[in-house]
Amino acid sequence: MSLDFKSFIEYVGKRNPNEPEFLQAVTEVTEDVIPYLNEYHPEWNDLKILERMVEPERVISFRVSWLNDNNEVQVNRGYRVQMNSAIGPYKGGLRFSPTVNLSILKFLAFEQVFKNSLTGIPLGGGKGGSDFDPKGKSDAEIMRFCQSFMTELFRHVGSETDVPAGDIGVGEREIGYLFGQYKRLQNAFTGVLTGKGKAWGGSNIRPEATGYGLLYLVQEILKHNNDALTGKQVAISGAGNVAYFAAEKALQLGAKVITLSNSTGTLYDPEGFDSDKLAHINTLGRDINEYTKRYGSASFHTDKKPWHFACDIALPCATQNELDAKDAKLLLEQGCICIAEGANMPSTAEAIHIFQDAKVYFAPGKAANAGGVAVSGLEMSQNWIGEQWTREEVDSKLQGIMARIHETCVEYGKEKGQHINYLKGANIGGFIKVASAMKAQGL
Ligand code: GLU
Repeated sequence: MSLDFKSFIEYVGKRNPNEPEFLQAVTEVTEDVIPYLNEYHPEWNDLKILERMVEPERVISFRVSWLNDNNEVQVNRGYRVQMNSAIGPYKGGLRFSPTVNLSILKFLAFEQVFKNSLTGIPLGGGKGGSDFDPKGKSDAEIMRFCQSFMTELFRHVGSETDVPAGDIGVGEREIGYLFGQYKRLQNAFTGVLTGKGKAWGGSNIRPEATGYGLLYLVQEILKHNNDALTGKQVAISGAGNVAYFAAEKALQLGAKVITLSNSTGTLYDPEGFDSDKLAHINTLGRDINEYTKRYGSASFHTDKKPWHFACDIALPCATQNELDAKDAKLLLEQGCICIAEGANMPSTAEAIHIFQDAKVYFAPGKAANAGGVAVSGLEMSQNWIGEQWTREEVDSKLQGIMARIHETCVEYGKEKGQHINYLKGANIGGFIKVASAMKAQGL
């Protein structure tokens, strides 16, 4: 049986009304996967592999009620989307943000399935979170919220069932409170969460992993074209973990980083950030604009995104759909040759088509930011065998994983004239393993 892309997207849209982000992620993947299926595996269409993949195995939604510091009852909604467990236990982060809804978590869980498959580690895909807004909350409020969240979630997760981690709004502090509550409820110290503190089962390099991995992949892309990061001008968006460690690694590899940003604007330093400047930014928290007080070379732009400043390499590391068609055109006009996504789905569908038509290198999040979940997978391995590997050991495994992801993208993304379509390579490379596991395991 042959599948028609347009009718498939119509079918998914009808089954999932009001879920634009989920539909966007499904479209991005199936645009590549459907032609591949029709040509190489029409028998997988008879098994309805794609129809099954876009239907989460399980969606859990629950009430999270907690007390704020004024002893007022607060009510939020918690979720866990268990998307696909064909190749391993569900794995993926938790996002705490007022923007969280089912469409966003389903898109993230769907992306996670392909990303986790690309790492080469046996990990299924899931995602969860809450519409809770951590901004402005006290430490005690964060703790009470996390405890209440885990009081419901604990029955659905486990070190061999579903292993959540952090995402936007969930870092080591939140993982600590969630882990403490799980341990209390189960009376068991297990690797049920990753991103743990190093003293209590966490892995070296986990905080750095997404940002470092992003640069390792960019390095591979450039190497494949007999080029290198040395002297390249890099624009980065975001100022969280991913952006910060991407900037640090870019510097170490000889590039010049000229921007970082947050929701209020873009920090631009034409002289580039050095390690002292980055360390200073790290002390500023949300107020990265304060940087200009110490460094006269820099300016803060409330009306401009990082993509307004000429760069060779663009690394969107903030959030979904932050880079649109206008930004994509601007980047190309200014000579950008490579866009690699540190965030999940930061480029709109239109922006991606513009990059693809221009034949610049576009590395989608599922390949480019897979370093984070890859080191989460390594954290799980260390927990199972009761070891803690050194920074050097984890870093070298991470480099190996990113190099293999690059190879997979090259294998499945090769086009006429030797051009590599990294999006196609990542989509098909991630898909094959999950699809064949689903076939093998039956309905
Ligand atoms: N939230 C991260 C991601 O988008 C990490 C997930 C994990 O470590 O499980 O891949």
